[in-house]
Amino acid sequence: MVGGLGVGLKKRLLQHQINHYLARLAKTQNEEQFYNEFDVILKGLHRFAGPNRPAMENVRKAFQRKHPWAELSRLLLQDRISKVSREKLAENFFCDWVMEAKTREKLEEEGFKAPWFFVISPTNACNLNCYGCYAHEYEKGQGLSYPTFDRILREAKQLGIQFIIISGGEPFHYKDRKTGKDLLDLLEEHDDMFFQIYTNGTLLDDKTIERLAKIGNAAPAISMEGFKKETDERRGSQVWEKITEARRRLHEVGVLQGFSVTVTRENASIVSSDEFIDDLIAKHVSFGWYFIYIPIGKKPAVELMPTIEQRSKLREKVWEWRSNRPIFIGDFWNDGPWTGGCIAGGRKYFHINSSGDVEPCVFIHFAVDNIMELWKKGKGLREAIISPFFLSIRKKQLEKNHNWLTPCAIIDKPEILRDAVKEYNAYPTHKGAETIIKGNIASFLDEYAKRLEATTRPEFEKMVAGEYDSPGVKLSKVIENYRRKNRQELEIQTRRVERI
Ligand code: SF4
Repeated sequence: MVGGLGVGLKKRLLQHQINHYLARLAKTQNEEQFYNEFDVILKGLHRFAGPNRPAMENVRKAFQRKHPWAELSRLLLQDRISKVSREKLAENFFCDWVMEAKTREKLEEEGFKAPWFFVISPTNACNLNCYGCYAHEYEKGQGLSYPTFDRILREAKQLGIQFIIISGGEPFHYKDRKTGKDLLDLLEEHDDMFFQIYTNGTLLDDKTIERLAKIGNAAPAISMEGFKKETDERRGSQVWEKITEARRRLHEVGVLQGFSVTVTRENASIVSSDEFIDDLIAKHVSFGWYFIYIPIGKKPAVELMPTIEQRSKLREKVWEWRSNRPIFIGDFWNDGPWTGGCIAGGRKYFHINSSGDVEPCVFIHFAVDNIMELWKKGKGLREAIISPFFLSIRKKQLEKNHNWLTPCAIIDKPEILRDAVKEYNAYPTHKGAETIIKGNIASFLDEYAKRLEATTRPEFEKMVAGEYDSPGVKLSKVIENYRRKNRQELEIQTRRVERI
């Protein structure tokens, strides 16, 4: 019991309260009234927030300052998402974020720190044939069976993980051979979770979109390479038209939608332009992710990696857009200072591939555990998250990486991954995975990492010294807190491993 009420009842009350407020907000037309109402909600929720209280306080302050994300919330509630999507977001994402904090706190007391989310790729198969896509170039297996996929999600919930990212292959291409069940069946079966789905968008036909709208607990992030020319050149002719139409339909039925881009030397200037992001906002896109091309797969091409200058330019643009555009953007590499460095190895996330191998990150194709093998031994996700391989990556990050503008264990501090793979004899999860840790590509990365460190170190020092602090957000404090927390969290996990 919490505060005299059972957790289940408290959660339902919270859900009811939030839904009531959000419905009111959705009807508010006057901007001032919208912001005032929102402030009342956040104030009311403060007492439920537990360990998330400081984060909630920051959100509240941002709304009071009318940060562009406040405008994003208004657009979402008044224009972009349906009642079903709104309620699922509130119940599965927001309420769970607040309430599952208790589950997580309890696990922490037992000596286990669960990551916030993970990525799962149920299939490597795809309906497109894009040049350079690592998923396409790997051999196709059967993918995860539906019961395996389902069991992984049930285990995740026991660890207080309610947010799952689905990747691939093409997730909407997934179908279990035995049962015929597909991704939408899974979303429906786990309607108490929230999913983000990386998709090429071409299988989002009317029927799929209508089902997504009905279920309400998933947000597709459609991949693109730039505008029509760049997207069709790599993905195939007419792909741009198909995804534009899918975006229109998703908006029409009120499904939250995002984008994802792999930044290469060729498209970097286009995808870092105001025109690119404004076009997405105009198409009602609410969030998106930038990924830097990294040379993995069967035909890795180091010449496609963006230059160090292009990478810095992207950071400047993304950070600028955060202060003046109503869209949520994640920049997987450049956001290190905001995320306490690399999030891999179960610190904040990990990846399960289509064979069940548990990888530290979607881009690290090495593992020491396979989920099906763990189950045979009476173990599971919990043990995978605290594998010595995962913990070693985190420990090495803590000890060797003091510049979070170079967070990556693969390309920025490549020795971290190489040493951990060697130390724990991690097996490659795909043919060709080793090319990133030895030979010409490894030598290229050593040089790249040296230059990146030299260029970014002074900038990161400025962040630590408070030169990037604003009246609303103190980045120097964020960095300071993460330095402490990363150490504490690793200590919690390590203590547990020692006890096993
Ligand atoms: S290893 Fe690199 S790509 Fe993976 S989470 Fe860390 S920084 Fe990101």
